[in-house]
Amino acid sequence: MSLEAETKSFVSKFEYSDEDVNKAVKEFLRQMGEGLEKDGTSLSQIPTYVTAVPNGTEKGLYMAVDLGGTNFRVCSIQLNGDTTFNLTYTKVAIPKDLMVAKTAKELFAFLAKQVELFLVTHHGDHFERHVRRRLTVSSPDGFKDENVFRLGFTFSFPVQQVGINKGTLIRWTKGFDIPDAVGKDVCALLQTEIDKLHLPVKVAALVNDTVGTLMARSYTSPGKTGAVLGAIFGTGTNGAYVEKLSNLKKPLTGEYDNSTGDMVINTEWGSFDNQLNVLPNTSWDIELDKTSVNPGIQMYEKRVSGMFLGEILRLAILDLLKNPKVAFFKDENSSSNDWKSTTHIAPNSSIYEQWGIDTAIMSVAAADNTPELSILRQELESTLSVYSPAHDDAQAFKAIAGAVARRAARLAAVAIAAIVLQTGKLIDPESKDEPIDIGVDGSLVEHYPYFRDMITETLRVIDGVGEEGAKRIRIGVAKDGSGVGAALIALVAAGMEKNTSTADYFRELRSSAPVTLTSVMEDDAVDE
Ligand code: ADP
Ligand code: MG
Repeated sequence: MSLEAETKSFVSKFEYSDEDVNKAVKEFLRQMGEGLEKDGTSLSQIPTYVTAVPNGTEKGLYMAVDLGGTNFRVCSIQLNGDTTFNLTYTKVAIPKDLMVAKTAKELFAFLAKQVELFLVTHHGDHFERHVRRRLTVSSPDGFKDENVFRLGFTFSFPVQQVGINKGTLIRWTKGFDIPDAVGKDVCALLQTEIDKLHLPVKVAALVNDTVGTLMARSYTSPGKTGAVLGAIFGTGTNGAYVEKLSNLKKPLTGEYDNSTGDMVINTEWGSFDNQLNVLPNTSWDIELDKTSVNPGIQMYEKRVSGMFLGEILRLAILDLLKNPKVAFFKDENSSSNDWKSTTHIAPNSSIYEQWGIDTAIMSVAAADNTPELSILRQELESTLSVYSPAHDDAQAFKAIAGAVARRAARLAAVAIAAIVLQTGKLIDPESKDEPIDIGVDGSLVEHYPYFRDMITETLRVIDGVGEEGAKRIRIGVAKDGSGVGAALIALVAAGMEKNTSTADYFRELRSSAPVTLTSVMEDDAVDE
């Protein structure tokens, strides 16, 4: 069989038809409803106790940290009170061994250390003064509380939130596995390690990255209405949206402000359709799941997000390599290669290792429209040790990678459409001509060429959305949304300490906020 014919057959296995998409949207809506009614469903629909969005007049210096899945970010944000802010951040890759550490302490001590490094580097004066003060006062509570940085902790794993800075870990995702942390309050775990280092920092708010993205997008997007959805397409995928309190049927245990009639819900949509009623399931999806640390769960995430797309592609590529009748990444002799060389893969190529293909190469493949695919061919050589790949090898790689990503984007559209339909905005006469604003964050959606366009193209064929609806849905990248959003929620939390309601703090925020990046320092961060 020719490589071309075989590639076509592989590509066709990743097709997800318009009909499939429509069926999945209906199922997504059904599973959303189920999650609003009771606990223990596949879409967790976790209440966040966030009931309103900010208004741009807030002032002060806040900190935020973000444990995403691949990187750990630390930032400080000066809110200027006139809808502008200055952001300083650092980013470091999370060491792989800490993701599966024996105890939670190992991971959280590392995180606290990064906070200390950040303070020393970027807020040296403040740090010095307060450490000195703290050491000279006998009681740890004896120094003034207002000198302490309020920190918003973006923790992007499923958490049962029981208060603005308190929440217990439900389960790990995205390759993390530290059983000791499950069931514990992650804010307390971080605060304990911060206190051991005597840092002037209080973990004031626990924030999911989706909620942070929603807040940040609401803060910065033009127009008078806030965003309806914050969505992540990074290592993992998830979304948080604004739901009517009246639709939330399961009991709420914590305190909240009900004056807005709304509450932000963290869907935990990575677990959509774990039962596989509507999700596609190729032999490669099955294999990926079987060898993962959490078989049977996060089934939607395993078909959509950055951590997994490269691995799906790798498993498909391995199958193609196994077929002795197909000349892929190998040729008989140099005459069959347009570079007049002989293609071969190094035996120690990461193609042969689990997680050996980073999703980032799929973006390179998609972006390379040069006639000879020379950029991709160079990338295959440098990252996967495939020497002298021929033009048709690169074409096959590009086609299969494109099919995996396209299926992911179509699945992303399923979640987005279902949530837009759930908000009722498309049929509400009051919001007839208004755009429906969605904030997105994560390397996949930010860097994969045309990812957002593929989503929009899919939205057009969805019943109840259609051409007209798709036109109104505005998807904007909220860059560093989780950092800015976490700082904004830390600010709400500071207000709550003084007994001010959330809504007073965050009312009618609709103006745009130019971002000033004062300094960016990247330490060994994983490429984005
Ligand atoms: P986090 O999830 O930790 O917040 P990111 O949003 O940066 O971090 O997402 C990291 C994920 O995105 C990784 O799985 C990585 O493989 C993937 N990724 C990184 N760069 C790219 C890229 N250029 N194109 C597509 N995916 C990418
Ligand atoms: Mg992230």
